[in-house]
Amino acid sequence: MKERLSRREFLTKLSSIYIAGCGLSNGLSSNQLRAQELKYKLLPWQGDNYILGHKMRDGQIPIGKIESRKNFDFVIIGGGISGLTSAYKLRNSNYLLLEQYADLGGQARGGNYNGIGYTLGSAYLSSIDGELGKLLDELKLKPVQINEHTNSWYYDGKFEFISKATGLNQNDLSKNFNNFFNQAKLIWNKYNLDNVSEINTDNNLSKLDDTLFASCVKDFNPRFLEYIDNYLMSSLCGGINKVSAWAAYSTLSELVTPIYVLPGQNPTLAKTIAQKIDQKNTTVKNAFVWSIEMNKDGAKLYYSDSIGLMHEVNCKHLIITTIPMVASRLVSNLPDDVKANLMSLKNGSYLVANLCLSKQVFNKSYDNWMPSQYEFRDFTIAETPYEILNTYEAKMGSVMTVYKPFENGAIGRSMLLAGDRFALISAIIANLQNIFGNSFEDNIEQVVLSRFGHAMAIAVPGYLKKISIINQHNIDSLSFAHCSLGGLPCVQSAVTAANNACNRALRRKVG
Ligand SMILES: Cc1cc2nc3c(=O)[nH]c(=O)nc-3n(C[C@H](O)[C@H](O)[C@H](O)COP(=O)(O)OP(=O)(O)OC[C@H]3O[C@@H](n4cnc5c(N)ncnc54)[C@H](O)[C@@H]3O)c2cc1C
Repeated sequence: MKERLSRREFLTKLSSIYIAGCGLSNGLSSNQLRAQELKYKLLPWQGDNYILGHKMRDGQIPIGKIESRKNFDFVIIGGGISGLTSAYKLRNSNYLLLEQYADLGGQARGGNYNGIGYTLGSAYLSSIDGELGKLLDELKLKPVQINEHTNSWYYDGKFEFISKATGLNQNDLSKNFNNFFNQAKLIWNKYNLDNVSEINTDNNLSKLDDTLFASCVKDFNPRFLEYIDNYLMSSLCGGINKVSAWAAYSTLSELVTPIYVLPGQNPTLAKTIAQKIDQKNTTVKNAFVWSIEMNKDGAKLYYSDSIGLMHEVNCKHLIITTIPMVASRLVSNLPDDVKANLMSLKNGSYLVANLCLSKQVFNKSYDNWMPSQYEFRDFTIAETPYEILNTYEAKMGSVMTVYKPFENGAIGRSMLLAGDRFALISAIIANLQNIFGNSFEDNIEQVVLSRFGHAMAIAVPGYLKKISIINQHNIDSLSFAHCSLGGLPCVQSAVTAANNACNRALRRKVG
C-alpha cells in the first residue's frame, strides 16, 4: 500500500532528506560530523523560539489563575524596531510594551565578539531619509555611509566590483549590470517607488505592483540573473520569479546608492531606542501574549510571564507589531476579511550564521554575493563600520555573517525546526573553505546560528494593494504596525508603520 503523508509529515520527511544531503556536501553524514570533534564552539540556537508560538497556533492556551489585572491607554505587542519605535513615540503616554523574549530588538537582536557588535538578522539601513532619519537624529546616531565597495560578486573564483556609475571591469558581469542599470534607471528616475501610500491613486506604481519581476528581465544573461536573484532572495525572501517589479526595482536601487551601517548594525538602533524608554515601568520582557479580544472599550489580552503566570491587561488602543499571520491568530474576534488578508501574506524563512573568527580573512567589501551553486546567498563583514571609523584593531578578529534565506518558507521552516545545527553549518563552512582555502576553519572560534521561521512577508505581485487594504481596516482601537505593513520588510518600513500606528492610536484612543 502506498504511504499517504499529511503536508506536515511530508515536509518533515523532505527536510530530513535535505539535511542528510547537507551533510554529504563535504562527504560526511551529519552523524559522522557530530562524532567528529568540532574545532570551534557551536552555540545554541538564537532567533525564533517556536515552543510557545506553536502552542498558541495549536490552541493550547494555558488556563489558570489570573495573577494581575491592569489597565493602560495603549498596549504594544512586540519589542522589535517597530514596537520600540512605537514605545518611543508614546513615551509620554500611559502604555505597556510586551515582548516574548528576554531581549528587545526582534529581528534586530545581536551579539558581541571581541568588541565587534554583530546582528542575528537585520543589518544595514538602505536610506536614512524621512522618519527614520528624524529618529536617528533624535537618538544622536550616525550610521557610517558605505559608498565604495559596498558589494562584491564572487565570479569565476574572484570577488569582483561593479562601479555604480560606469562599470570599471568590463567583464560580462559588469556589462550585464550596467545594461540592467540603464534599464532600471528608466523606472528609478520616473517613479517614486517609496510612495507606497499612493498605491490606490498612482497607476504606474499599481502596474509595477501587479507585474512579476521575471517578465522585466527575461532578456538578460542567466548567469547574471543568478546574482540578481540572490540579491532579491536575501533582501526579500523571494527571487526573480516570485517578487513584484515594484519590490525588485525598489530593492535593487540600493546597488546604485550608498547604504548606511551602524557599529553593531541594526541591533545598535534597537538598543539605543530601548535605552530611551522607561523600561522599568513600561516594558515586560519574557511576556508571551496568548489571546486578545477586541471589545467596546478597546481590547482585553492575556499574557504569561517568565515563570508562566498569567496576567490580564485592558487597554483603549492596541498596537500589534508581530508578523501579520500571528496578529490574525492572536485576535479572536477579528472580522473574517481582515483575518483572511493578514493570513494571506506568505513568509519566507531564514538561517543566519555568525562566524566569529580569530583573525580577519576577508575585508574587501561589506556585502559579498555568491552564484547559485553555493549554500548561501551572501555574507557581510560586521567589522566594516569599525574599520571606516578607524576603531578596528586586528586583535578584535572578524565576524562573518552568512545569510541563507529559504524561498519555500515551509521547507525552510521544517529544516530549521528539525534544527540540525551541525549539518547546516558544516555545509556552509565547506563552501567557505572552497572560497578561502581549507585553513579557513582553523580561524573559527565560535558559530552562532539564528533561525527565523517566518522571516519576511514576500512581496509578490499585488503585495502593496494587499497591505493597503489591511491598513484601511476600521477597527478603531486596533493598529497593526509590523514592518511588512509599512512597505517592504525593512527598518524604514518598521519606523513608518510604527509612526502611522501611533498617530492613529493617539487620534482614535477611545475616551
Ligand atoms: C535575516 C534577516 C535579515 C534582515 N536584514 C535587514 C537589513 O539588513 N536591513 C533592514 O532594513 N531590514 C532587514 N530585515 C528586515 C527586518 O524585518 C526589519 O529590519 C526589522 O527588524 C523588523 O522589525 P519589526 O519590529 O517590524 O519586526 P520584528 O523584529 O519581527 O519584531 C516583532 C516582535 O514581536 C515579538 N512577538 C511576536 N509574537 C509575540 C507574542 N505572541 N507575544 C509577545 N511578543 C511577540 C517578537 O518576539 C519580536 O520581537 C531583515 C530580516 C531578517 C529576517
